[in-house]
Amino acid sequence: MDDLTGPLTQGNRRALSRAITLIESTRPDHRARAMALLAELPRRQALRIGLSGTPGVGKSTFIETFGKMLTAQGLKVVVLAVDPSSARSGGSILGDKTRMETLARDPMAFIRPSPSRAELGGVARRTRETVRLCEAAGFDVVLIETVGVGQSETLVADMSDLFILLLAPAGGDELQGVKRGIMEIADIILVNKADGTLRDTALRTVADYAGALRLLRKRPHDPEGFPRALPVSAVTGEGLARSWDAMQELTGWRRETGHFDARRAEQARQWFLSELRAGLLARLDAPGVRARLRETGDSVARGAVDPDSAARQMLDWLGAGQPE
Ligand code: GDP
Repeated sequence: MDDLTGPLTQGNRRALSRAITLIESTRPDHRARAMALLAELPRRQALRIGLSGTPGVGKSTFIETFGKMLTAQGLKVVVLAVDPSSARSGGSILGDKTRMETLARDPMAFIRPSPSRAELGGVARRTRETVRLCEAAGFDVVLIETVGVGQSETLVADMSDLFILLLAPAGGDELQGVKRGIMEIADIILVNKADGTLRDTALRTVADYAGALRLLRKRPHDPEGFPRALPVSAVTGEGLARSWDAMQELTGWRRETGHFDARRAEQARQWFLSELRAGLLARLDAPGVRARLRETGDSVARGAVDPDSAARQMLDWLGAGQPE
């Protein structure tokens, strides 16, 4: 058994941090140890909540207030991030230490920034594995934050039990700015900043989105009234208890109807397939393979062999068989 397994399953934060570092490492020996560790950890379940919103909408303020509300109820909370920009900038949306200061000091909470220097797919893979570690460490709620950029929302939704979209108060015409695809994967839309002078606009925005959500096809596995739009204020905390109630109502329903487990099972299946695809692609990058790819590419370029049969020969040589 791995040295980290015991302390990690008892909720030791240092062991959890070290295990996450191990999982984020690309060194082959670290990778092997990480896989062995994951295999021997007990399977526990936390509620995985994906949270998306554009910069400035109030994600960190929301997570701070919402997280504090949950820890005050005795729940252990993890905050993770999937941040496509960290790959480019080397920074991270959670790297800034001033974010979520209070929550970061809360012994019931654990905050981990997005792994940097990785492609989005790599970040997603590490985050999925980190979620498993946090569950094994006994956390109750895992919040996975992302900014609304590129594929990151879909990736986060695909690793969450619930997907929450945080929006700012806006005029009706700006409603178009939210991509339809994102509306379709959101279980709950929260319109933030419903306080002070922005309150009325926020309430109107909630009504607009509630109307837009009603026009979407109802999901057969969800109860009446979902997906739902609600007003919140991350600053005053108003509406946060109600949004937590809505999250629990939806989760409770999905658990009862078996959809919760079915969704996780499907996510596991998709995870396996994407790991397999990533693994196959990575094999093309191995040094011996690259040389052969170059030679075969030359033959194809000279017209000595057809592109299609060259590809088939390569696949056979790689042991990946014939494509159907
Ligand atoms: P993030 O970029 O999505 O993480 O957004 P932040 O949490 O950093 O918030 C961006 C700005 O919006 C900050 O100036 C916050 O003080 C402000 N803000 C966040 N939540 C609220 C809210 O509920 N009401 C009001 N009035 N301002 C808020």
